[in-house]
Amino acid sequence: MTVSLWQDTASWPSEIEHERIVADIAIVGGGIVGATLATLLAGAGRDVVVLESRFVGSGASGRNAGHCIAGLRTNYHHTVERLGRDRAKELRQQMLENREMVRGFCDRLNVPYEQKGSQYLGIDAAEGAELRACAEAFLADGFEVEFSEQDPYDRGFIGHLYQPGDFWLQPWLLVTRLMASSGARVLENCEVRTIEQSADTVTLRGRRATIECKQAVLATNAYSRHLHEYFRDKVFPKRAQMYATETSSEPRLIEMPTGCDDGNAYFRQLPDGRFLIGCHRDRFVDEEIGYGDETTPQLQASMQTWVAERFPEIAKLAITHRWAGIMGFTADAMPLIGRLPDMPNIAFAVGFTGAGMSYGPLAARLTAEYVLDGTHPGLFHADRLG
Ligand SMILES: Cc1cc2nc3c(=O)[nH]c(=O)nc-3n(C[C@H](O)[C@H](O)[C@H](O)COP(=O)(O)OP(=O)(O)OC[C@H]3O[C@@H](n4cnc5c(N)ncnc54)[C@H](O)[C@@H]3O)c2cc1C
Repeated sequence: MTVSLWQDTASWPSEIEHERIVADIAIVGGGIVGATLATLLAGAGRDVVVLESRFVGSGASGRNAGHCIAGLRTNYHHTVERLGRDRAKELRQQMLENREMVRGFCDRLNVPYEQKGSQYLGIDAAEGAELRACAEAFLADGFEVEFSEQDPYDRGFIGHLYQPGDFWLQPWLLVTRLMASSGARVLENCEVRTIEQSADTVTLRGRRATIECKQAVLATNAYSRHLHEYFRDKVFPKRAQMYATETSSEPRLIEMPTGCDDGNAYFRQLPDGRFLIGCHRDRFVDEEIGYGDETTPQLQASMQTWVAERFPEIAKLAITHRWAGIMGFTADAMPLIGRLPDMPNIAFAVGFTGAGMSYGPLAARLTAEYVLDGTHPGLFHADRLG
């Protein structure tokens, strides 16, 4: 969102007092990454303030499917090809660690979740073969998964990959409860408009407050380019759309987080029978680029058609909610942790692509260690971009 001179400098009517706040560390962004950072940095005894444009959980973190899956967007065997076996294993271990972290948060904060594992269905023979190769690579590295050629639904899927331990959760409750319990001071409705560093002091100028701090962390995901040009060719805004249906008293057909079609479709039913799905971003690539917070009739209709073809009994349920969310994609689908080249006291953890529940909290932990002790964040460090 752009801001006019008038909106930025208006002093009349002055409904909002402009505060001046001094803190140890400021976090920009109130999503799952900002909330985890706030928890860890305040937990380490720092005086932390969080600035959020809208409200906590208003971004992708409060709009996603809530699938917490210890997997990357690409299949494991491709990750091995790309990174080598040792680094692929390290990454998978980190995903498992992230899953435990998130489950720990859910237990502590009483956030509803259901841990029945996750499944991936081959949309055709080619994807079935990919799932088989993925399962073989997982098993070769000692990771527990199950593969079968059978379609558990008898709907024309080819190949079924089951991953025990994965789960789904209520994402907005997770983010808001985590932030509320973090010990950080949280300023909502406070978009940060400029960031500066002079000597060792960082100044963040926001809508309701100006913050002076020693360090800042940007957890602004898709919106990062609005704060610094550095992100313009690194984090790309892309939209995803979902819908959810009314409840149903029929026995649940799809209990666990389910994916297919190269990650382009993800769906499940809630315990009350509601069905939710996101898919077909790949069929509307150009329309789904950018920041528009709206659903489109063509993509929504495309999702409904697909559901009617594969799950006609579910397609009968009335749709009660349609929504969109904006994700920050990176070229290699991995997050970026680093420091701004021209403002080294400003760190960032951004670019969670379509899987911020799968590695956001872990990346926040690596970022917190980087900020507090200078520990290198490993595979997610932005220096991999050269
Ligand atoms: C429809 C959909 C379904 C998805 N499903 C899944 C899923 O099932 N599993 C999964 O792992 N991932 C999923 N994702 C991806 C996941 O939601 C994201 O990767 C994750 O939420 C990113 O978290 P974040 O904290 O980095 O970003 P966000 O949640 O987007 O938070 C960034 C925050 O920064 C704030 N902000 C930005 N700029 C400023 C500024 N200048 N000043 C102050 N505040 C600012 C924004 O308002 C926002 O609240 C999905 C995404 C979408 C959209």
